[in-house]
Amino acid sequence: ALKVAIVGLPNVGKSTLFNALTQTAAAQAANYPFCTIEPNVGDVAVPEPRLEALAKIIPSKEIIPARINFVDVAGLVRGASKGEGLGNQFLANIRDCDAVCFVARCFIDDDITHVEGRVDPLADLDTIETELMLADMESLEKRVVNLEKRAKVGDKEAAQTLRLIKLALAELNEGRPARVAKIAAEDEKAWRMLQLLTSKPALYVANVDEGSAATGNELSKAVQERAARDGADSVVISAKIESEIALLEPEERAEFLETLGLEEPGLNRLIREAYHLLGLQTYFTVGPKEARAWTIHKGDTAPQAAGVIHTDFEKGFIRAETIAYEDYVRLGGEAGARDAGKLRSEGKEYVVKDGDVMNFRFNV
Ligand code: GDP
Repeated sequence: ALKVAIVGLPNVGKSTLFNALTQTAAAQAANYPFCTIEPNVGDVAVPEPRLEALAKIIPSKEIIPARINFVDVAGLVRGASKGEGLGNQFLANIRDCDAVCFVARCFIDDDITHVEGRVDPLADLDTIETELMLADMESLEKRVVNLEKRAKVGDKEAAQTLRLIKLALAELNEGRPARVAKIAAEDEKAWRMLQLLTSKPALYVANVDEGSAATGNELSKAVQERAARDGADSVVISAKIESEIALLEPEERAEFLETLGLEEPGLNRLIREAYHLLGLQTYFTVGPKEARAWTIHKGDTAPQAAGVIHTDFEKGFIRAETIAYEDYVRLGGEAGARDAGKLRSEGKEYVVKDGDVMNFRFNV
């Protein structure tokens, strides 16, 4: 599964958030098995109301959601790029992830020490991004001389890498994350190969006080604005509230959410944001045994989608009987959709849409 790193300065609420994420998944009983892979890695179900709706129509015995992993990466302090704190290990842990959640402290609580002596989420985000930017600059600058030599003697790949490194350095030298650089489609693969920390998709998480869970506050507003500037997404959440919600029984949970003015746990939004951040989307398979969400990348074709279930499905792909989620629900299932002409037979070139309900025909 794809991995999302949770990073931030000490005492901003990372562990509280991580524990809430993993406890919620555990509390969702048999349908949402949770497993701890390593102490700091949580395998989390992606909340998907559409899947519940599909399972009801059939009805399906079991619901199997999509999953992503969250990694609690502790130990970032000022100077990490110079090896301070758990510096190098920390950076390696982030490099290993596919996207990054930056947690910023937007709650004021005099009992909780702030490492830098004041609550200032923008300064905190700067501190963290600066460490990551410094680490990127260092790793890129090391490569320039060698690549220049190779490019000079006609090595096209080296020339491309060099060009992209210069693009990245142009942003980094101006104090901006590499993420904001404009990358042409044909350069995207080589760009990813640079393995930059600051080019990973980013989600700024504004951790607000309990009273601001539904509305946000001045500090979280500033974080949201900063996210737009840095090419990141943002989400407002109260980690403390979420950790309390996570421990409640489902009936109590609904009631508690209502008193808070929330429609659903903030964690659900966070998980979905992270999923989209990773460039992922979902298609469904439904039957009496199970209703299941499958994870694909945006732009994947029908055979690629089939390959997620089994490589044989991709190799022997013939066609995919496809019903849009809305049609499936509106017309009461497959038979209704077929009668209404909404069951499409799609071939090899079909680009799967988010929410497609699919049934693959293939040769064995
Ligand atoms: P980490 O070092 O970033 O992992 O931070 P922790 O999750 O351990 O949180 C540090 C302290 O802040 C703990 O005592 C938490 O209970 C507290 N904390 C976390 N989120 C909130 C919040 O939203 N409001 C308040 N008042 N305290 C919080």
